[in-house]
Amino acid sequence: MTNPYMEVRKSPIHRYGGFALKKLRKGTRIIEYQGERISPKEADERYANAGPKSIVVLFNVDKKTTIDAGVNGNDARFINHSCDPNCEAVDDNGRIYIEATRTIQKGEELFYDYNLTRSKDDPADVDKLYLCRCGAANCRGSMLEPRKTTKKAAKHKK
Ligand SMILES: [Zn+2]
Repeated sequence: MTNPYMEVRKSPIHRYGGFALKKLRKGTRIIEYQGERISPKEADERYANAGPKSIVVLFNVDKKTTIDAGVNGNDARFINHSCDPNCEAVDDNGRIYIEATRTIQKGEELFYDYNLTRSKDDPADVDKLYLCRCGAANCRGSMLEPRKTTKKAAKHKK
């Protein structure tokens, strides 16, 4: 089944990306993030030696469920991360959909904020492993969720 809203093409940001096939209105449900539903533990074991590449295919739904788009995944897995995205991942009863957060013009690349979960046993250079090159003015330099301490510090400055 072809998706009427997006197609996968080579991306200037990172290998492949998802691109709008037509003008998309804000709120358009573009594609479901599909794949095998496994536990986060199983995902860790499966990709233990894969390094940061595994983020390309894993989506953490909640504490119990990770979607592995490496197995029965669809084109949603090609959508790249941006710190200034035009889409968001919406959780609808445990199923994940990529939806437009603003009007998107035909041919624009689609992005959502991966907002990857940090964990206590992340290596010190974890942000380097998940380095972001989205080029947005507000790029936080990492595909991981913002550090909580950084957030607080920024608040104090204001
Ligand atoms: Zn960025």
